[in-house]
Amino acid sequence: MAHPTSSSKRLLVTGGAGFIGSNFIRLVLKSGAHVLNVDNLTYAAGVEMLTSFDRTSNYQFLHADIVDTATLDAALRQFSPTSVVHFAAETHVDRSIVDSNPFVRSNILGTSSLLYVVLQYWRGLPSASQQLFRLIHISTDEVYGSLGETGQFTETSPYAPHSPYAASKAAADHLVRAFYSTYQLPAIVIHPSNNFGPNQHSEKLIPLTIQSCLRNRPIPIYGNGRNIRDWLYVEDHCDAILKVLNEGAPGSSYNVGGGNEWQNLHLAETICDLIDEIEPIGQQSKSRRSLIQFVSDRPGHDFRYALDCSKISTELGWKPSHQFTEGLKKTIHWYLQNRARLGIEH
Ligand code: NAD
Repeated sequence: MAHPTSSSKRLLVTGGAGFIGSNFIRLVLKSGAHVLNVDNLTYAAGVEMLTSFDRTSNYQFLHADIVDTATLDAALRQFSPTSVVHFAAETHVDRSIVDSNPFVRSNILGTSSLLYVVLQYWRGLPSASQQLFRLIHISTDEVYGSLGETGQFTETSPYAPHSPYAASKAAADHLVRAFYSTYQLPAIVIHPSNNFGPNQHSEKLIPLTIQSCLRNRPIPIYGNGRNIRDWLYVEDHCDAILKVLNEGAPGSSYNVGGGNEWQNLHLAETICDLIDEIEPIGQQSKSRRSLIQFVSDRPGHDFRYALDCSKISTELGWKPSHQFTEGLKKTIHWYLQNRARLGIEH
């Protein structure tokens, strides 16, 4: 049976005011799909970016919390989505270490509430629409825990989350899988690695480093800076989500990584060097690397994440198309262009 064409797709997106969700919405609106974005606009929401969507006739916004089942239920019935893409979550590991409760609420209870109402909605669809319907749940690579110097996580690696954030995402994944096993709700889980790109909140490593450079402020690096992350350009991730939505197998899960492992310190130094090239400081031989400052390590800091992405590559033909430095330059330019909006003096 044919999937809905781009223009007949109706996507209910949760958390679409955030970093990845807003980039995803931009991509699918261009293809003609209709989008209902459900977001309760936490501190992490990048509302400015969404005002550009408001002028698009195929976009609607609902200011709502995903824990609120009555509102979600009404939204599903009114909007009649052909699929749901679930990004909404509390996402910052450091905040989860300070207080895990908002993470338990939005990431676990929120996902449970969404699954419950989506199941009722899906059961009421005609059988042809039921077969085409998908719920895509955006998880994280952090549910697998930490690696040593070598190795990669596959989709069958055991779960071993370390931070309260990762634990809450793992619990949500288990609920999604249980709704597939128990009710055959056609759900798919995606495990992305660290994303970067435009419109990311300044608390995350790459925007924090770029903005610290532009503000001439210290760049905090945890511990000895040797922790390793795999970086994925956000547009590549959004392409992968679309692939999974269109061609992924219900009940399955897919790792989505950039194949781009960097030590935090080396990454921060590279960003400093790229910004020095674009905007030299003035005094010769002075480098923004001097802004780097080591701070006490994050408790339970995972040493390394790395993903084996052969499943999505073999089954769905996806691989990232951005070179890391190219993506980094695009990201830096976005922050330079948005200086005024971000309150960064020239
Ligand atoms: P973000 O923090 O930038 O945005 C999250 C969005 O969800 C915000 O707009 C917020 O208002 C909304 N939200 C939070 N709780 C909500 C609730 N209860 N009801 C409605 N809306 C709510 O997050 P992001 O970086 O765009 O991440 C999106 C998803 O991808 C998350 O599920 C995250 O766990 C996952 N992920 C992110 C990364 C990354 O590097 N950013 C990596 C792996 C996985």
